[in-house]
Amino acid sequence: MHHFHYHNNCMYCEDVPVPEIAQKTGTPFYLYSHATLRHHFLVFQKAFEGIPHLICFSVKANSNLAVLRLFGNLGGGLDIVSGGELFRGLKAGIPPEKIVFSGVGKRRDEIVYALKSGILMFNVESHQELELIDRCAARLNKKAPISLRVNPDVDPGTHPYISTGLKTNKFGLSEAEAIEAYRWAGGRPHLNVIGISCHIGSQLTEVDPFLDALRHVKDLIAVLNASGISVTYLDLGGGLGITYDQESPPLPSEYGKAILETLGDSAFTLILEPGRVIVGNAGILVTRVLYTKKSEGKDFVIVDSAMNDLVRPSLYGAYHAIEPVIKDPSGTIRADIVGPICESGDFLARDRKIPEVQPGDLLAIMSAGAYGFTMSSNYNSRPRIPEVMVKGNQFYIIRRRESHQDLIAGESIPDFL
Ligand SMILES: *Cc1c(COP(=O)(O)O)cnc(C)c1O
Repeated sequence: MHHFHYHNNCMYCEDVPVPEIAQKTGTPFYLYSHATLRHHFLVFQKAFEGIPHLICFSVKANSNLAVLRLFGNLGGGLDIVSGGELFRGLKAGIPPEKIVFSGVGKRRDEIVYALKSGILMFNVESHQELELIDRCAARLNKKAPISLRVNPDVDPGTHPYISTGLKTNKFGLSEAEAIEAYRWAGGRPHLNVIGISCHIGSQLTEVDPFLDALRHVKDLIAVLNASGISVTYLDLGGGLGITYDQESPPLPSEYGKAILETLGDSAFTLILEPGRVIVGNAGILVTRVLYTKKSEGKDFVIVDSAMNDLVRPSLYGAYHAIEPVIKDPSGTIRADIVGPICESGDFLARDRKIPEVQPGDLLAIMSAGAYGFTMSSNYNSRPRIPEVMVKGNQFYIIRRRESHQDLIAGESIPDFL
């Protein structure tokens, strides 16, 4: 469900015609629908209403302050993976006691920042990290709230780059290591063991791998309980997929129901870390056609956005639907939709059937709200593009377009040159 729709053959975001925004901000730009973001969050929230829970939105999917504030206003917390994301979360006004800190490579300064901020818990991914958190907490004379991330060794059946729950991935602790680490942590005065967590991958389109992971975690909890260790928080990570093309992932309600059934009676507070499923289809990337050309019988449509703006097609071979912003009854072509960057890997779509387009036409790259702007870069010295949020019949620039000056801010030429 989303609020991008056509009216008189013109694409609207909620009640605002997309060309009107393009006129004002220039192209390319990211465009988010407030109503869609809100709806997705509330639907997800509702799926777990039968049990105490906290929805910790995964900041890396979309880290704009306005987006984070919106989820915070709806009662959400955050899943962060860096000090930078913690800074964003706090700036957006998210209470620190609703923030969980994941990631395999937390640095000392990031751990100290999180301890001083008073976050809900660290999802710890190795024994050495646990020791470092213990030392930092001791120095600050604090008790660090800890959850251990276990790697349940289930295959989520997703792209290898976004699968994280297999033994061969870099994430989490094996069950045997986790048991050892829980025992060790239990004896440390500056660690407070409160949770267990797992996150098996992203863009999952079946519910079974989640349930397999949950069963593994439940078994592990039983083993821990038998040796006198108990936890309050059960964090099942994120990973629920969305429809980019033909996928039919479970609805959040189905996902929630299956999890609650598998969980059975429990006294846990459940933590969920959804990212993509909340923001993915709530955003599009609007781009303008620069040129069209034919070479060796192949059609190319060259647009003003590129892999630096949206890297998913280049990085994962990901599919994004491409729609015309103005529909007119012209014919269709089959073309590669490519950007201006000097790399053959710079494409938004390959061999794609789209309506015939002319220079100046606007195209919407759909489902670009997750891992879109957050993965963008300045490659080819391209300023990063604006993010715009629509609410009803108004639109708001929630991040301005970078300038050429922004590109060199922070650089300096040493005196010897
Ligand atoms: C990336 C990530 C998420 C969010 O994943 P989605 O597929 O976007 O839902 C949640 N938790 C952790 C630990 C992650 O690394």
